[in-house]
Amino acid sequence: KSGFVSIVGRPNVGKSTLLNRIVGQKIAIMSDKAQTTRNKIQGIYTTEDSQIIFIDTPGIHKPKHRLGDFMVESALSSFKGVDTILFMVNAAEKRGPGDNFIIDKLKDVHTPVFLLINKIDEIHPDKLLEIIDDYRTQMDFAQIVPISATEGNNIDTLLSEVTNYL
Ligand code: GDP
Ligand code: MG
Repeated sequence: KSGFVSIVGRPNVGKSTLLNRIVGQKIAIMSDKAQTTRNKIQGIYTTEDSQIIFIDTPGIHKPKHRLGDFMVESALSSFKGVDTILFMVNAAEKRGPGDNFIIDKLKDVHTPVFLLINKIDEIHPDKLLEIIDDYRTQMDFAQIVPISATEGNNIDTLLSEVTNYL
């Protein structure tokens, strides 16, 4: 099995951290500063029977200037031609206009969308159920996977679920 997976989400939700953890190399640039990831960076995850090519994207946000515009276009173009889209949100922050902007774009896409609730290490477990309920009112997700990209929680589950969609 092989296929392409795109990771999208607001700046700083942890997309590059996840990619680095999965691929095990520092290929995407990580930073606290928004917009460090300027281009789509691909990482390849290989096992005995599968190969998944991950596409990291610049954080999607409502464009305020032309470079921002280009980066958003680049991120949105990564929706096309992939087997699964991983939409990552930050468990420690409320769903905001940035998340809603992306959800709006994802509604037009026919590719299965996973909701990745990242940074679960920062919240109380009770809060997770609230977050899941809230996002469920917004759109239908193929899967909802709570993870911690830094701690490594649930990454195995994520990879096996992604493999099911290849
Ligand atoms: P990106 O802009 O979405 O690519 O976000 P980055 O991967 O650059 O991460 C932004 C910040 O969030 C960095 O300081 C990361 O260390 C931090 N971060 C990423 N994942 C987690 C997580 O699971 N838990 C916590 N506590 N911090 C995280
Ligand atoms: Mg990044």
